[in-house]
Amino acid sequence: MTLPRGRLPVRAWAAVVAARLVSGAARRVGRHGSVIGGRVATVVDRRVLARLAAGRTVVLVTGTNGKTTTTSMIARVLGGADQEVATNHLGANMPDGITTALLDDLARGGATSGSDQGVAVMEVDESYLGEVAAATDPRVIVLLNFSRDQLDRVGEVRTVARRVGETVAAHPRARVVAFADDVLCAGAGLAASGAGGRAPVWVSSPTRWTGDAGVCPRCDGAVGHAGVRWECSVCGLARPDGDWTLTGDARTATVHGPGGTTTSLDLALPGHANRLNAAFALAVGAELGVAPAVAAARLRGLEQVGGRYRTVVRPGGTTRLLLAKNPAGWAQVLDLLDEGPVRPVVVAVNSREADGRDVSWLWDVEFERLARHPLIAAGDRAQDLSVRLAYAGVAHRLADDAVAATRDTVGEIDLVGNYTAFHDAARVLT
Ligand SMILES: [Zn+2]
Repeated sequence: MTLPRGRLPVRAWAAVVAARLVSGAARRVGRHGSVIGGRVATVVDRRVLARLAAGRTVVLVTGTNGKTTTTSMIARVLGGADQEVATNHLGANMPDGITTALLDDLARGGATSGSDQGVAVMEVDESYLGEVAAATDPRVIVLLNFSRDQLDRVGEVRTVARRVGETVAAHPRARVVAFADDVLCAGAGLAASGAGGRAPVWVSSPTRWTGDAGVCPRCDGAVGHAGVRWECSVCGLARPDGDWTLTGDARTATVHGPGGTTTSLDLALPGHANRLNAAFALAVGAELGVAPAVAAARLRGLEQVGGRYRTVVRPGGTTRLLLAKNPAGWAQVLDLLDEGPVRPVVVAVNSREADGRDVSWLWDVEFERLARHPLIAAGDRAQDLSVRLAYAGVAHRLADDAVAATRDTVGEIDLVGNYTAFHDAARVLT
């Protein structure tokens, strides 16, 4: 690595050197993907994230589901074939992880000298958006959706969305790209124009109802839904019209953009949720000067994101890896499974620290829709899952080990895991 002594203050330079030494040590003991570099750099210089981000065009992506995939898509759209964009592709989306990603980019020589330091596309945990935005002065903030994640945190989703709105209001220079169909997301996005910033760029998908908020984010009035439309019965806050609208199914997916432009999507990634993520990537690309047709072409080759959607060849067949960690994520995966041929499915559920200990969210997943698939329940909480499946009337068997269960199956199989279950399987299989 060429140390960027010239453009960083002494303290930040010391932070980068310290991070490099510690990261090197971590790698030597086999700890890849660690965020320790970012942590150490921040200890040495608590403003290091701001210094590393200075001069860059920063895009921040937040929301409950789809952050990693959408971030990867936007990085691909903005990077093109030869320009590598700084991004936290390993999904470490808290400040230490984002700092580490920028340090890694520096080590690669990704940041050039002068005022244009290149592009950084970062996914950010919803709870840290304010901190990261304050440090990085983003050019674009993407708000994907807000739904409850782990049941331990139920009730917090409205608070999270409100804080995101405050962050957006505090950064009027940032262009907000937000999902119009999600009540909480739209409420947070509208904070942009309310604070003197420009109106958000709205992404919409009127083919499907996705909102689940019954209370207005502005006045706490009741929100009524009619198809994809929603409107507060008290203050009149209503779903904004989409500037970028996704229509069609897997074969006919089209993104309708401003000025009557239409762009066909032909994604290798499956499912409606990914087509919607791609619509976001087209909208962000256009905001930063990439034509929609060029953006769509760049997305076609994307086949997996951090192991998600990856198909692994094994003796006797293939295993496709899918991640679903909450009811909204599961709704997306169920749509995706409905689109494809009927395959056996291994569902693996853990409840470790990173998953959330409470698994009662399983009762909010429409497992009834899996009835036509041969089903295997696995993971630390296979028994809880089995009870849920029994109530859903879905025949299944239990397996001790999710990956072993796929190996026992001939032909194509899908393995759907929540956070640690997915990563455990991905580590073994890929
Ligand atoms: Zn209202």
